[in-house]
Amino acid sequence: MSEETPILKGALLEELTEFFKSIGEPGYRGKQAFIRINRFQARTLSEFTEFPLALREKLEAMGAFPDLPIIQTSKDADGTEKAVFAAGTDRRDEETKKIEAVWIVSEGRRTACISSQVGCTLNCAFCATGTMKFRGNLKAWQIVDQVYGLMRHRGSSMAADDPERLTNVVFMGMGEPFYNYDQALRAAHLLHNPHGLNLGARHITISTAGVVPGIERFTSEGQPFNLAISLNHPDPEGRRDIMDITDRFSLPDLLAAVRAYTKASGKPVMFEFVMIPDKNMGKENVEKLVAIAKSVNCKINLIPLNTNLHNWRRPTDEEMVEFQNALRQEGILAFNRGSPGRRVGGACGMLALTG
Ligand code: SF4
Repeated sequence: MSEETPILKGALLEELTEFFKSIGEPGYRGKQAFIRINRFQARTLSEFTEFPLALREKLEAMGAFPDLPIIQTSKDADGTEKAVFAAGTDRRDEETKKIEAVWIVSEGRRTACISSQVGCTLNCAFCATGTMKFRGNLKAWQIVDQVYGLMRHRGSSMAADDPERLTNVVFMGMGEPFYNYDQALRAAHLLHNPHGLNLGARHITISTAGVVPGIERFTSEGQPFNLAISLNHPDPEGRRDIMDITDRFSLPDLLAAVRAYTKASGKPVMFEFVMIPDKNMGKENVEKLVAIAKSVNCKINLIPLNTNLHNWRRPTDEEMVEFQNALRQEGILAFNRGSPGRRVGGACGMLALTG
């Protein structure tokens, strides 16, 4: 914890141990604090019942335990719920920085979809977040606090028999995680830590729009988490048309980095494919997508277009099935992920503080 104000949330176990020693307390307080924060999702220091009152007051005076409050929630009839969090005030214009996270209920899973930035520097044509003003990176504690806040709000625990048990976390909310690499990966490790939620690495997915240096770093560090790539078009020109990041990192370079990842990790990559009729669903696109999928160890998630930023049409259910079948006939693992949370603006591509 190198910052002036020590923030207990977001700190690793060894950092907490060192911190407590540095203020003249026994090192084991670090583990106690870590468990309170990351396993029991404590919201205030008053929940640190094993700490003497004087120590709690000392930490309180240091401002060591900030909160990421939920300021609004909206629940879809399908059980999915979106929450808006206040992530502090923008010093430039005093406006509250708000972020969104979604508790997705789908196919027997309960997945927290969380944000890594306030807004996004990229501008994917199908994504409402890309139209927002970028207001900065989130700290690791603000990333994990979205999960903990959603769990508290839903009355969810990690108990095996809890019908509300959290099963997955995906870094697919606002922002590009690999443009906030250190904090995003720190957050993933906090969620994975056995003294915290102990969420399996295979249940945590980091999704990137295609930041090649981030993928290379993820690979070289041997990160245990799943990697998802927001692919959305199998052709370099077509992809440039809907994803401006293609100008920075070309599709061939992206695919080379992904192949190196699958080879090094022995794991498949998950390609996300937002389906936009007249843009990426034609026969030639299917053929190119099949060629890519046969050259990379991958699965493909098909997602119907959820936004209406350019008067593009959402595919019909029949078009979705036809596209999926065309991939499956070629032996490609392709799944139709649908649009949980769409009625409350919580589905893929919709997070822009509306709805
Ligand atoms: S899809 Fe992701 S990377 Fe693209 S604009 Fe939206 S939040 Fe940013």
